[in-house]
Amino acid sequence: MKNKRQFAVIGLGRFGGSLIKELVAMGHEVLAIDTDEEKIEDYVDIATHAVQADSTDEAVLRKLGITNFDVVVVSIGNNLQANILTAITLKEIGVKKVIAKARTALHGKVLEKIGTDMVIYPERDMAIKLAHSFVHNIMNQIDLSSEYSIVEILAPAEFVNKSLRQMDLRTKKNIAVIAIKHDEEISLPPDPDQIIKARDILVIAGENKYINNVADLDL
Ligand code: ATP
Repeated sequence: MKNKRQFAVIGLGRFGGSLIKELVAMGHEVLAIDTDEEKIEDYVDIATHAVQADSTDEAVLRKLGITNFDVVVVSIGNNLQANILTAITLKEIGVKKVIAKARTALHGKVLEKIGTDMVIYPERDMAIKLAHSFVHNIMNQIDLSSEYSIVEILAPAEFVNKSLRQMDLRTKKNIAVIAIKHDEEISLPPDPDQIIKARDILVIAGENKYINNVADLDL
């Protein structure tokens, strides 16, 4: 594998555990760390290595060679003290990239102040994403700014059996279609005369208010 990376995941709750499974499935090496022996037993056959250890102990982290890992994820949830102590220790001993899970905005602020490279709020972000998917047709989104995005949407019914040339979306809807995905075929840049079919996926760029105009589902 070309970009094989070494990850360490500390805290084997539902989030940490799912992360390990996905990283391993993608072919990466993952060290799993938890204080709980039972959790470690669950992951010995899944992770590349699974070690029972307390991540707030600097000597233990050094012994595990934690600074050699490309990314270390702190996925300890309930124990706020252990979460913050682990993140600060990892940064102090020189781990390149520390990602830590935060429960609240204040917790996230503390993690940022101590130098955590990336703070994540999985529950909050998943809920936001899900809420949007209930009212919009958006499958994937890249925010270019607070007002502009590139999104992947299922072709709206009003676009089906029409071509881009016919619809003139740049002028009429203020959006640009960057690509059309039809089954496994991708048309990029899109052929202006291609007829859009139901279940085609469109990649569009534009201002969010205009994107939402075409992506709103008829509920
Ligand atoms: P999720 O919502 O992802 O299921 P959670 O946010 O509820 O998880 P916890 O269950 O509180 O997270 O913590 C995840 C794991 O972190 C637990 O298995 C716990 O044993 C482990 N953990 C707690 N403190 C430490 C520590 N100091 N060192 C290593 N692991 C720890």
